[in-house]
Amino acid sequence: MIGIMDNRPLFEVEKRLLPREGGWLVKTREIPELGPYRSRLEAIEALYRHVTICTGVLRKEKPERARQFVQHSITECKEPDCELCNALLALAPDANVVQLKA
Ligand SMILES: [Zn+2]
Repeated sequence: MIGIMDNRPLFEVEKRLLPREGGWLVKTREIPELGPYRSRLEAIEALYRHVTICTGVLRKEKPERARQFVQHSITECKEPDCELCNALLALAPDANVVQLKA
């Protein structure tokens, strides 16, 4: 698992996700309004990716895993037992996941 998702809870997620016109914006230190994203889950993934890149955590990962992480999309992923999808879903147990893995 990508380091930051494994050993560090994503604190302040509720404060960082802002509903906006039917979608979600992500508030980060570097970018005040990232998005919009169609679903809360997508916004959480974007927040994680942003934090992972900005904190330099991604640089410590193997290039192949870093590439997978950056290119991953929870709404488009088709992998049946995807490590990243499972980690994101665990972070947002209340998120609407109907659109996933239909
Ligand atoms: Zn996935």
